[in-house]
Parts: sequence; C-alpha cells; structure tokens
Amino acid sequence: MPQQTRQIFVGDLPIGGGAPIAVQSMCSTDTRDISATLTQIEGLTTAGCDIVRCAVPDEEAADALAAIRKGCRIPLVADIHFDYRLALAALENGVDALRLNPGNIGERWKVEEVVRACAERRVPIRIGVNGGSLEKELLAKHGHPSAAAMVESALGHIRILEDLGYREIKVSLKASDVRRTVDAYRLLAEKVDYPLHIGITEAGTTWGGTIKSAVGLGTLLYDGIGDTLRVSLTGDPVEEVRVGWEILRALDLRDRGPIFISCPTCGRCQVDLIPVAEEVERRLRDLPKKIVVAVMGCVVNGPGEAREADVGIAGGKGQGLLFRRGEVVRKVPQDELADALVAEAWSLVEEEGAI
Ligand code: SF4
Repeated sequence: MPQQTRQIFVGDLPIGGGAPIAVQSMCSTDTRDISATLTQIEGLTTAGCDIVRCAVPDEEAADALAAIRKGCRIPLVADIHFDYRLALAALENGVDALRLNPGNIGERWKVEEVVRACAERRVPIRIGVNGGSLEKELLAKHGHPSAAAMVESALGHIRILEDLGYREIKVSLKASDVRRTVDAYRLLAEKVDYPLHIGITEAGTTWGGTIKSAVGLGTLLYDGIGDTLRVSLTGDPVEEVRVGWEILRALDLRDRGPIFISCPTCGRCQVDLIPVAEEVERRLRDLPKKIVVAVMGCVVNGPGEAREADVGIAGGKGQGLLFRRGEVVRKVPQDELADALVAEAWSLVEEEGAI
C-alpha cells in the first residue's frame, strides 16, 4: 500500500497524496548560460521529465532564472545552499520550488524571510539531506552518517519550518549507499507524512548508477514509499529521466511510450539480432503511445511473442517475419528488419492515434 502523504504543488504539478510519481532531473549546464540550460531542459522535457532543478551558486545564476522560467515548459526548482538572498532572488524570478536546508541558512530571521516569501507564493521547500554533508554534531553523536543520523537531520530541518508554521515541504534523504538510503526513507516514512523525493545520490556512471537506482528506488517504491524521484547519474541527465521512467514502468506505477520485449538470443538465432533490438529501442523510445514491440530471434518462441505484441519481428535464416497485431505483414531481409519494424510501429500509432 502506498504511504499516505500530504499533497503539495510544484507549480501546477501535484506531488504526494496519491498523485502520479513525478520524474525529475537536474541540469548539468551552467545556470548562467541561459541558452544552454533551456536547450537541456527542452531535451529533458521531451524525454518525460516532470520537474527540473538548476543550481544557483551565485547572483548571476539567480538572475538567469527569470529567463529560464519563461522559456521552460515544466516546473522549475532552484537549488540553494547557505545564502538566503539567492533564495529570495530565485523566488522573485518565479521558481516553482526551492531545494534548501533551513538549518544551513544561518540566523532565524533569514529563514523567516525565505519562508515568508515562499508562503506568499505557495512555493514548497524541499529539505534535501545528504549523507555526505551531515551536521558535525550528528556525526559525533551517531559515529557515522547512519540512516538514523540522516533522519535526525531531516527532522531538525523540518522542525525549523514547522515552528514557522510552514508545511509546504517535501523531503529527501540521499546517500550513495543503497541499503542506508532505503533504511533512512523507511524510518522517516514512519515519522512524517510529507511527500518524499527519493533517490540514490552520486550513484555512479550510467551503467552502475542505473542498477543502484533501480534496486534502491525499486525497493522503496514497492513498499509504497516515494512521491517523486530523481535518478542521479554521472552522464547525460536525459538518461536519468529515461531510467526513472523505466523504474516506474517496471513497477506498473506509470505508463509512457512503448514496452520492448526482446529475446536474449541463443544458438537457434540465425539473424544478427542484438543490433536490431538496440536500434529499434533507441529509435522508438519517444513513441507517444504504449504499444508492445517484440524483437525475437527465431521461429521457436519468436512467432508466439511477435504475434502477441502490437508489432514484432521473428527472425529466420538471414531474414525475419514482420507481424502487426497477430498477423504476418511480410518477410523482411535481415538488414531491413529495424527499419521495417520502426516504420510499422509509427504507422500503427499514426493510424490509431497517440494516447
Ligand atoms: Fe533463442 Fe529463439 Fe528464444 Fe531467441 S526466441 S532465445 S533465438 S529460442
């Protein structure tokens, strides 16, 4: 059962309270470079990013947010550390949420100013606890950045906002260690009903980070924990969005685009199937409809799966059979298999309309 969380809004996007789990990412561009940042945000949006975050390290970056906000089609979050003036400037420039830890802002009056400005605009604050930057006192008390230490840190930041009467909050508790992250979120989910932003931070490169994220986020989501997610990869942020979607799709939590089925190949396969499967997946990943696409290697299991799929191919000797909705369309030579399957998928979507 999903954990019941409060609902907040990031721009017009609901988070928590049973809303669809939002996929987010963070720009890797210099925020001061407005054109590069908007180009990257557009790519992320096309890939299915629901919320995007930009780092705000200085005043120039905060100023750039006005133009970025104007040119971006999805809710925009400003990532602020330490300087309350940057938070105020980001709010002035129309951001839809802040990522900021109130305990790092300094004197109470500074936090009050930020909270007042957020409340005027109903802009939520994400408290983002990171296992790598816990408060010294908590490290001394717990001995290391344990799940309990991370939760204590989050509760401290939450208390500051609650004392100021502010509850438009979401919380993240990220560590690069999968077990510690899962333990921390489970612990916090028992204590608060704020929406949770889940992620494994600094998870690694696209290959390793994808696996860590799938295991960690998959475990949490299967427990019903998590209202929005970010996959952190050392790579193109568009991959973060694609991986985030695959995790949600694997658990049937959200739908987007085609479902790929392809066989692992074996000694019966008589076509060069792996490049065909990779090319078809790459070329169809932005298809705006949930259809099942099968790429199968031989006549043993191939025709069955390809027939059950919306479109599919089943390999034969140097060629393949092209299927559409259970019917054989035609025989296709090996080097035209990818083109034929991609064209068939698009023609199906164009005839029947996108969902
Ligand atoms: Fe092997 Fe055919 Fe199964 Fe692919 S579909 S794994 S080629 S038996």
